[in-house]
Amino acid sequence: MNCKYHTQAKAQWFCHDCDTSFCINCCDMAEREIAPRCLLCRNHLNSLGVSDKVTPFWNKLSYFNKYPWQKGATGFLMLYMAIAFAVGLINDFISFWILNRLLVFAVLSIGIGYVFKVLITTAKGKFDAPSYDEAIIFDSEGMMGKVIGLFVMLTLIGYFVILPMGVAAIQIYLALVSFSMPAILIILAMEKHVFAAINPARIATCIKAIGWPYLLLFGFSYLIDNGLGFAMSEIHFWLPQAIAYPMLFGAGAYFYIVKFNMFGYVAYQYHNELGYGIDFENLLSSEGEDAPIKRLFSKSDVYIQEGRYEDAESVLYELAQDKRHTVKALERLVRLNIARQNPAGALKAAKNYFDYPELGTIPAEALRLYEDMVGFEPRFKPMNAKARAILVKQMRHKRYADEVKKLCSIPDSMKQDMNLPSLMLARARFESDVMNSDDRALKILDVLLQRYPNGAHQREAEQLRQVCHSMRHKLPSV
Ligand SMILES: [Zn+2]
Ligand SMILES: [Zn+2]
Repeated sequence: MNCKYHTQAKAQWFCHDCDTSFCINCCDMAEREIAPRCLLCRNHLNSLGVSDKVTPFWNKLSYFNKYPWQKGATGFLMLYMAIAFAVGLINDFISFWILNRLLVFAVLSIGIGYVFKVLITTAKGKFDAPSYDEAIIFDSEGMMGKVIGLFVMLTLIGYFVILPMGVAAIQIYLALVSFSMPAILIILAMEKHVFAAINPARIATCIKAIGWPYLLLFGFSYLIDNGLGFAMSEIHFWLPQAIAYPMLFGAGAYFYIVKFNMFGYVAYQYHNELGYGIDFENLLSSEGEDAPIKRLFSKSDVYIQEGRYEDAESVLYELAQDKRHTVKALERLVRLNIARQNPAGALKAAKNYFDYPELGTIPAEALRLYEDMVGFEPRFKPMNAKARAILVKQMRHKRYADEVKKLCSIPDSMKQDMNLPSLMLARARFESDVMNSDDRALKILDVLLQRYPNGAHQREAEQLRQVCHSMRHKLPSV
C-alpha cells in the first residue's frame, strides 16, 4: 500500500478514523506522544510496519542489568545517593515528622521521575540511559502525582468496592493487582492517564498483547521487588538514617532502573501489539536533521490535496521561516494560490519569491514559476531588476521576445535600482544571442555604457559590444 498523497512512497501509517494510509513523513510528530497524529483528524496513527526483528526481552537480561552502569544512570545514582545522604542527615538531627516525611517524599519523587523517564526512553528504542537533567525536565509531567493517584485509586477501590465482599475477595484483588502491576506501569508511562492504567479492559488487552511472556515479565519483576524488600527491611532496621538512606534509596533506584528498563523494553518489543503505533526503527533511521522539514512539506501536500488551503498556507509560511527552505516554500505558496484562484495570495507569495536574494542559484525554477504566474496573472512582473535580469538571462528562445520587452520596461519606482545595468546587459545578450539582432544589442549597450560608465558590468558590456561589432561586419543584418 502506498501513501494516499505521495503515491510513490510506501505507506507507513494508517488512520482508522479517516481510513487513510500515509507515508512516513505524512504525520504530526511531537515528543512525548505515544504515536504520531493524523494530519486530518488529529487522532493517533497506527503503524503499518511490523518489527519482529527485535530481540525478545527474556534474552536481554544481562543488558537490563548493565543499564544502571551506563554513564547517564550512574551519574543519576551518585547524585541520588548524595541527596538521600543529605536528607538522612537532616532527618537524623531534626526529628519533626512532617518535615521528615516531606523530605522522603521529595527523594522518592526524584527517583520516580527518573525511572519513568528510563521506561519511556527505552520504549522509544533509545537504549542510552537518560541523564539526570533529562529526567528533571521530564518530571514536569508530574509522574509522581500520577503514581500517587494510581495507588490512591487502587486503595480506594480495594477499600470501598472489594473489601465489603469479604476477606477472600481482597486477597484475590491484591493478587490481581500485583500480577497486573507491570502492565499497569507500562500503560501509565506510555499513556500518562491514571484511569487508563487502572482500566481492567486496557490491562487485559495489554497482558494479552504480550501473551505468555507476560508471566516471565511478572516473575522477574516479582523477584526484584522481593529481594529489594528484604534488603530494605534489613538495612533500615540496623543503621542510622544518614547511612541507611543512601543505601536504601540507592539500592531501590538501582533495581527500579533495571526493572523499568525492562518494562520499557517490553513496550518497545510489543509496541505494535500494544497499539503504541511508532515503528521506532524506521522512525529513528529517518530522523535526520531535515525530518521535521520533510514532514512540513508532506503536510502541505496533504492539505493542498484535501483542499484545506488555509492550513496549507500556514504550514508553508512556517516553512518559509527557515532560510534554507524559504524559496521552496514560497514557490509552493505561489502554486497553491494559483490553484485556488487567489490572485492576492499568489501575488504576495510571488513578490516574496522574486525578492529572494539567492534567486540566481535557481534560475530555471524561477523562470518556470514566472511563466506559471504570468499565465495566471498576465500583469505580473517582479519589481526588482536583479530578478528580472535572472529571468531574462534564462529566456533563451525567440518566443520570449515579448516577455523580455515587458521585463525591460522600467517603471519609475525602479529607476534607482542598482541592478539595472545587469538587466540591460541581459537584454543586450538576448538581442544578440537569441534574436540575432546585433544592432539592437549595440544600441542597448551604448545606452548602458553611457548611463553607467563604471561598475562590475562594464568589462562584460564592452566585450559584448566588440563581439557585436565584429558580428555586424561579418553578417550584416538584413
Ligand atoms: Zn505521504
Ligand atoms: Zn485521521
